[in-house]
Amino acid sequence: MWFAITLCEDLENRLPLTDAAFSVGELDLAQVRTIHNLLQNLSDQKARIVEATLFARGPIDRLPPARLSGRLRRLVARYDRDGFAERSARAKEQRYISVKQCDDGMGFLSGELPSLDAATIWNRLKEMAIGDGCAGDERSMPQRHADALVALADGSGRLTCGCGRDDCATAVPAAGKRGPLAQIVVSDGSIGFGSFRGGSVGGGSFGGGATGTDAEGVPGGGSAAIPSIGFLPGVGPLDPETVRAAIAHSATQRIHVSAVDPVESAPDIAALRYRIPRALADRIRARDGVCRFPHCPVPASSCDIDHTVPFDHENPEQGGRTEEANLACLCRRHHR
Ligand SMILES: [Zn+2]
Ligand SMILES: [Zn+2]
Repeated sequence: MWFAITLCEDLENRLPLTDAAFSVGELDLAQVRTIHNLLQNLSDQKARIVEATLFARGPIDRLPPARLSGRLRRLVARYDRDGFAERSARAKEQRYISVKQCDDGMGFLSGELPSLDAATIWNRLKEMAIGDGCAGDERSMPQRHADALVALADGSGRLTCGCGRDDCATAVPAAGKRGPLAQIVVSDGSIGFGSFRGGSVGGGSFGGGATGTDAEGVPGGGSAAIPSIGFLPGVGPLDPETVRAAIAHSATQRIHVSAVDPVESAPDIAALRYRIPRALADRIRARDGVCRFPHCPVPASSCDIDHTVPFDHENPEQGGRTEEANLACLCRRHHR
């Protein structure tokens, strides 16, 4: 209701040409709303100047709302230069990116950026979608845009060709990607342990990329079938195919298996050492997901692992032990 009233008032008091065109049916309601919306922040005087210029440029009755807004935005920028600059600066303060979890293992990425920044990203994604990959790549353009954004984030910097041919000239190896940014939990027993013998399961984790010191990768490139649901801590479940692909590209994502590690040194001995075994550290990160300080969103992969009861280097028997119950993820800011 409020909107309708101000729209009427605006037409009567400030936008006489629009009002006249609307009353004889030259403009429809959508067009009138567009004009009203885009001129509402202007002074009465400037709104009239912009309106007059708009109508002087020729007939606008056939212009779809999107074309009409484009034309109006240019006029506003020209005739209300200071106001435009001021509103732009204020709008820029509100920039953000957000990720929300959806159904079926999908996330919804959205945000609002200064238009130049948004265009920079969009043009780069289009460039990568067209330039990276050969004719055998069957991904659609929208799929390539999405994959390109991930490639920018994981450090590989360009799309890996999807043709799957060994002799593809444009295929790029996964090398060059940065260390893990995400961690996947795979539950005990549901993973094909037999297929992964050879150290990586013993260490309780696969891959680890740049930060992986004791992980030995996945034998056979992780091509073994893994009928397992994975879990992204703090987010939700992942389908088996995603888990399989993540293990195959172990340089990007660290996989944590929550099975108790059979070759880990006996808990009693390990608990009396200050150093946290890699498998235990992975488990703590998977368990916590984020910094344990209330409401702190820093992901566990960027956190330190803190002894809640401090470890006593002089007399380990007296201090806090290096075991699951006494360890917690804390970000740099909250780890003092
Ligand atoms: Zn190819
Ligand atoms: Zn924190």
